[in-house]
Amino acid sequence: MNGYGYSIVIGVAFFAHLLVAHPGLKKNEEEDDDINPYMNKLVKNRTKEEMENETRVDYWNWNALQAVQERLFRKLNENTAKNVIFFLGDGMSIPTIAATRVYLGGEEEQLSFEKFPYSALSKTYCVDHQTADSACSATAYLGGVKANLGTIGVSAAVGKKNCSAMNVEENHVHSIARLFQLKGKKTGFVTTTRVTHASPAGVYAHTASRNWESDTNVLKAKLDPKQCRDIASQLVFGKTGKNLQVILGGGRKKFLPKEVTDEEGNTGDRSDDLNLIEEWKKQKKEMGAKYEYVWNRKQLLNVKNDTEYLLGLFEPGHMKYNLERSKETEPSLEEMTEVAIRVLQRDTSSTSNSSAPSDNGFFLFVEGGRIDTAHHSTFAHKALDETAEFAKAVQKAVQMTNEEDTLIVVTADHAHTMSYAGYAGRGSEIFGYAGQASDSNLYTILNYANGPGYRPLMATGERYVPSEEEMNEVGFKWPSTSPLNSETHGADDVAVFANGPWAHLFTGTMEENVIPHLIAAAACVSPQIPCANFKKQS
Ligand SMILES: [Zn+2]
Repeated sequence: MNGYGYSIVIGVAFFAHLLVAHPGLKKNEEEDDDINPYMNKLVKNRTKEEMENETRVDYWNWNALQAVQERLFRKLNENTAKNVIFFLGDGMSIPTIAATRVYLGGEEEQLSFEKFPYSALSKTYCVDHQTADSACSATAYLGGVKANLGTIGVSAAVGKKNCSAMNVEENHVHSIARLFQLKGKKTGFVTTTRVTHASPAGVYAHTASRNWESDTNVLKAKLDPKQCRDIASQLVFGKTGKNLQVILGGGRKKFLPKEVTDEEGNTGDRSDDLNLIEEWKKQKKEMGAKYEYVWNRKQLLNVKNDTEYLLGLFEPGHMKYNLERSKETEPSLEEMTEVAIRVLQRDTSSTSNSSAPSDNGFFLFVEGGRIDTAHHSTFAHKALDETAEFAKAVQKAVQMTNEEDTLIVVTADHAHTMSYAGYAGRGSEIFGYAGQASDSNLYTILNYANGPGYRPLMATGERYVPSEEEMNEVGFKWPSTSPLNSETHGADDVAVFANGPWAHLFTGTMEENVIPHLIAAAACVSPQIPCANFKKQS
C-alpha cells in the first residue's frame, strides 16, 4: 500500500473513533452555531452590492482564480540583487499585521508588503532563551548567527556583559551591511528608535550588552568604557559604523556629553566629554566627503543633492509615536526612508573626490521600532498605527525602486502577546468588544497575555470591562491576564515577505539566521556561496 492510501485509512479510523468515544462532540457543534457576531461600530460601511457579492459562489471563485492565475504564470526573478532594502517591524507579530488590516479599513485590506509574492515563517528563538529580544534577534537576521539574549553582533560564545569575550575577534559576527561595504556598495539605516538601540546596533556593533549605548551606561555596569566600547562610539568609529552613508533616527543624547545642550534644549548622556556628532563631522571632512548633519524634518527634506554621508538625529531619545509627533518638525518613517533611498541611489562618482562608494548598489536597513515599545505598554492602538506607518515606508521603497534589481525583505524580530480573537461581526472596528464572556460581561477583541494593562477584580467582585470611550483613547492600556510592568515578547514565529531578485528563496519555515544568508546569495556578496556556484552565466 502506498503512503497516501495508508493515511486515508488511518484518517477514517481516527474520525470513527472520535464519534464513538466522544458523544459530546455533537453538542459543542450546536453551541458553535449559536454564536452571534458582536457588532461594534463599523470600520467602513460596505455597499449593498459589496455585501451581496460575498453571498455569491462565483464572486469567491473568481477572486480565487485570479490568485491562482497570478501564481501559475509568475516568473522567477534570478537577477542579481544590486540593491537590498531590509524592513524590520520590531515586534510585528502576525496578529499585529492582521489587526492592522482592520485598523486600515477592514479584514480584506492588505498592508503594502502583503502584496509581495513570497513569504515564509521565521523561528526567532535565541541560543539561551525560548523568546528572543531585539538584540540576539538582530544578530540572527542581520549577521546570520544565533546568539545569547541581550548581546549584539557577537556569537553565543559571549555571555551577557562579558566584556573580555566581546573583544575577541573570532566571536564577532558581521552584519550583511559589512558584506555590502566589502564589495564597495553603499550602506545605511533608518529607525524610529535611538540609533544605538538593539535592532539598528545589529547593523554595526559588537557588544556583550545592548544597554551599553553610551560610555555612561558602561560605567553604570562598573566596567571600563575603554575596554567595553559603547555602542554610540562604535557607530562613529567602528569599521562598519564609520562606513555607513546614512544614519537616521533618534538618540542624540547618546552622542553628546552631559555638559552639552542640544538644539532642542536637552542635555547629553556621555561622561567622556566626546561630542560624537562633531567627531562624525570631523571624520567625514578629513575624508574629503560631502556630508550633512540634520536634526529636524525641514533640514532632512532639504538635504543637498550631492550629500554622500548623512547623519540625522531627530530626538534626544526614541522618536515619538506617529500619533504624538509634531508633523512639522519630526519626520515620519516614510519620509526618512525616502531621503535615505535618495542618498543611497545617487551616483556620485562624477561629482565626488572622496573615497565614498558610487553606484554599485546599496543595502538599507529600515526599522519600525515603536511597534514594539507600544506593545510593551499594551498600547494596542499605537502599535497598530506604527505598523500602518511601517507599511507606508515599505510602499515608498517599492515606488522608488525597480523590482528587477532591488530585493525588498520585510520581517519582524519576535512576536508579542497581543491576541486578536473572539467573534466580533465582520467590519467591526478593532478597538471594540468581541462578545459576551461566561461571566455575562463583555470581553475585548484585543487582549494581552501579560503587561501593565492588568486590572484586579473590582470592589463588586466583577471583572473590569473597559468602556467604549476608554477603548477609543490612543493611550488606553489594553487588558492583560498577568500583571507585568512591561508586556513581554512572544515566542511564536514571525512572517517574512519578499519581492525582487531571488525573492522565491524566502519560502517555508526557516530559522531566522538563514535570512541574511539568503540576502547575501541574492546580492552576490556571500563569502560562502559565490554567485558562480548557482547562477547561470549570462
Ligand atoms: Zn521589545
